Amino acid sequence: MTLAAQPEAVTAPEWQFFDATVAGVRRLGPSFVRITFTGPGLAGFGLAGDDQRFKLVLPRDPAGMRRLVDRGSAWYPEYCAMPEELRPDIRTYTVRAARPELAEIDVDLVLHGVADGHAGPAARWAAAAVPGDRVVLLGPDRPGRGRMWGVEWAPPAAARTLLLAGDETAVPAVCAIVEALPAAARTVTALLEVPEAGDVVDLALPPGTTVRWLPREGAARGSLLVPAVHAALCELGIATPSVARAGADYVDLDLDREPLWEVPDADAAAGFYAWLAGEAAVVKQLRRRLVGDLGVPRGAVAFMGYWRDGVAG
Ligand SMILES: Cc1cc2nc3c(=O)[nH]c(=O)nc-3n(C[C@H](O)[C@H](O)[C@H](O)COP(=O)(O)OP(=O)(O)OC[C@H]3O[C@@H](n4cnc5c(N)ncnc54)[C@H](O)[C@@H]3O)c2cc1C
Repeated sequence: MTLAAQPEAVTAPEWQFFDATVAGVRRLGPSFVRITFTGPGLAGFGLAGDDQRFKLVLPRDPAGMRRLVDRGSAWYPEYCAMPEELRPDIRTYTVRAARPELAEIDVDLVLHGVADGHAGPAARWAAAAVPGDRVVLLGPDRPGRGRMWGVEWAPPAAARTLLLAGDETAVPAVCAIVEALPAAARTVTALLEVPEAGDVVDLALPPGTTVRWLPREGAARGSLLVPAVHAALCELGIATPSVARAGADYVDLDLDREPLWEVPDADAAAGFYAWLAGEAAVVKQLRRRLVGDLGVPRGAVAFMGYWRDGVAG
């Protein structure tokens, strides 16, 4: 799938490092903690809203962090060349809310694996974070919108039926997207599979928008989300329950060979647009169901593997 052409006149942002301090920590539910970051540079960072992503950079060794930050926007070759014991852990997160006037951003982090000692560095860091902790963020150096800024949500103006679906890692993006939707004549359905009922949060939704929470309560990942997406497509008239047809567009993916990140051209969708994100094997199942079984055009759906079970980083 081709990537959308970027708007020409726009100056691409540099992705640069921002020093940030934890200004607040709030437990949102059993699986989520909200961390508010502040820092002098953050007034110009992460203003796009929607599913704006950035990198949280956690040092293993201060010398490694210094080497990386000193390289500025040319950090990546240095990162690849570093011995593992120096290389900072870098993880991707979503800006849940930005208050540029206060130079603050909020990030909602899933506390996976913390209770049973299997957490990765980001979840471990988040579980222990207290105001005053220092961290480094990597993000665009100026406000803007679109893929160069790390924003994938791009429903075409003609799309009147929008579907968002994902697991807990997609909750911050989906909440930010639905809260920012203009009150337009669109039908918007969001389906969110979360670990527990206590993870459900109240949202101020525009008219025409429905959010359905699907607490797993120990069930297998995707076991609620995949059928719920199928049912929603039928309710919305995008698919017919009894009709299964092989999509001409469908080729299976091997997650061991390639990440699942398939985002349509901005103008590819017609009346329907979907944004799906979460654990890669579940998103792969959704892709098979939508494109393979139900014949939904690939060009109408963004499929994004946000993380992969059993794989760090
Ligand atoms: C564009 C984008 C936006 C994202 N936004 C957010 C966000 O706003 N909030 C958020 O919490 N996450 C978000 N994620 C997902 C996050 O990057 C991953 O969950 C990340 O792997 C967590 O890093 P870690 O250091 O805690 O664990 P890792 O070191 O990466 O992994 C350690 C172990 O934990 C497992 N693991 C990792 N993540 C999870 C999980 N969520 N649940 C259960 N097991 C897991 C891994 O499979 C591995 O076995 C986003 C990802 C992308 C690509």
